[in-house]
Amino acid sequence: MSALNCPNPACEAQRRAGQYLCWDCWDALPGPTRGALSSRDDLAIVRLQILHREFAAGVPPHEIEIDL
Ligand SMILES: [Zn+2]
Repeated sequence: MSALNCPNPACEAQRRAGQYLCWDCWDALPGPTRGALSSRDDLAIVRLQILHREFAAGVPPHEIEIDL
């Protein structure tokens, strides 16, 4: 089905629609960050914006901390 580019600029893998990242980048995120991103509440879009901003700044997935 639809394959989209992983938002990590250092990654050339693809993600599925409905997923924020490819599996490798997702697995590389710290546990608390994964947990925060898995919450689909009113702050989900804010978390996603933070995630993309961190990637844009060159932060590797294992150093991205999101605790909203
Ligand atoms: Zn990736």
